[in-house]
Amino acid sequence: MLEPKNHWADTSKEVFTAHRLDDHISADIIIVGGGFTGCSAALEVAKSGAKVVVIEAHGIGYGGSGRNVGLVNAGLWLPPDDIISRIGKKDGVHLITSLSLAPQEVFNLIKTYQIQCNPVQSGTLHCAHSTSGFKDLIQRHSQWKALGAPVELLGAQETQKLIGTKLYYGALWDHRAGTIQPLDYCKGLARAAVAKGAEVYENSPVLSVRKNHALWQAVTEYGSVNAPRILFCTNAYQDKIHQKPRGKTTIINYFQAVTNSISNDQWADILAQGQGCWDTAMIMTSLRKSVDNRLILGAIGTPVGLGRRIHLNWAKRKIKSLFPSLPDVSLEAFWFGEIAMSNNYIPKIQRLGDQSYEIFGFSGRGIGPGTVLGTAMGKYLMTEDEDYLPIPITQGYSERSRAGKTLFFEMASRAFHFATR
Ligand SMILES: Cc1cc2nc3c(=O)[nH]c(=O)nc-3n(C[C@H](O)[C@H](O)[C@H](O)COP(=O)(O)OP(=O)(O)OC[C@H]3O[C@@H](n4cnc5c(N)ncnc54)[C@H](O)[C@@H]3O)c2cc1C
Repeated sequence: MLEPKNHWADTSKEVFTAHRLDDHISADIIIVGGGFTGCSAALEVAKSGAKVVVIEAHGIGYGGSGRNVGLVNAGLWLPPDDIISRIGKKDGVHLITSLSLAPQEVFNLIKTYQIQCNPVQSGTLHCAHSTSGFKDLIQRHSQWKALGAPVELLGAQETQKLIGTKLYYGALWDHRAGTIQPLDYCKGLARAAVAKGAEVYENSPVLSVRKNHALWQAVTEYGSVNAPRILFCTNAYQDKIHQKPRGKTTIINYFQAVTNSISNDQWADILAQGQGCWDTAMIMTSLRKSVDNRLILGAIGTPVGLGRRIHLNWAKRKIKSLFPSLPDVSLEAFWFGEIAMSNNYIPKIQRLGDQSYEIFGFSGRGIGPGTVLGTAMGKYLMTEDEDYLPIPITQGYSERSRAGKTLFFEMASRAFHFATR
């Protein structure tokens, strides 16, 4: 029976648990949300010696950070030229440069704090699902090359050698990138932050936030924290807080399904060097191997109700069409998570009020950007020096037709998965 179960939680090696907040305490900085962004920010603040408290509604990594594919990519989904055309040359180049270094920042943190998250830094493959997809990769390749990035454009045969499927027209191999077990990376960041002096509380949803004179107060059911500064890192998972205005984006669901364990000889020609992959289709598919020899296939879509049958049946067919040499492989579990797509697919740092900020809108690229923006924001909160920030602080984010866009992506993914192999 195919179970709704998160494989990352099932195979987690990092041990992290924290108590519920059941006291009234004070700090220098409150961080709401214990994903990559909140935990990276907390680590940076704690390193400076200031008192930082992270309040997490569920467990560390409950949101996108514990549900994702684990592709540690450089930059954003948008190619570099599109970033520049959306936010201008100065800010665009600054953001691209910061996020080019993001995978290395992630792998350095993993090494420094000995985070048990199976890092593999053999690059990732952006795979062309069609001839037009390959044209897109040619452009991305030339834009990254112009910036001196270590990227390689592969033809169909070279791609087949790395992935073991004939389905792709070629691929862009980014040597900066790699894969991790994302939930364990997040828990490792939380562990490192606590080791540096941060306080982390789990199972403590923040219910309200108010300002008392110069102090922000975040109130949970059993406790509260007072601090002069507050940072919200809740991205797509904005839960229960009654405070407005906060950046609300279009939400797109992305699911992953994991197979039974596949024998080593069957893996011989498949993802032989361990790259994680995703494709150029609008209804994107991702593909990677887990450390326990399972194939993890992901795609846009919500596998509940009718969507469950459509998306999961497609996943079974897709594995067969990618790898006909794996006839006995079956799906064992699936899970899904919410992606916060901002109006221009660029993450935001938003000022909500005096000494109150939020970081959101990672648009499906959050391991590197969440780490970089969280760390940078940690520095900014300690110094108020905007030079640390990869993007300028904005205000008053709004987006129209969010529900319509969410519905469009779900319907398009159902139609696509119903009709394709
Ligand atoms: C299925 C999926 C696949 C993805 N794949 C990739 C990938 O391969 N590579 C990549 O780079 N990015 C990927 N992403 C995007 C990436 O996971 C996110 O951008 C990233 O996790 C965002 O991190 P975050 O810390 O900002 O938010 P989150 O990890 O979502 O954390 C927000 C936290 O806030 C908490 N919270 C919410 N409300 C409250 C409250 N009231 N009180 C206290 N806590 C609260 C939530 O419980 C949650 O833990 C993927 C996303 C999804 C959903």
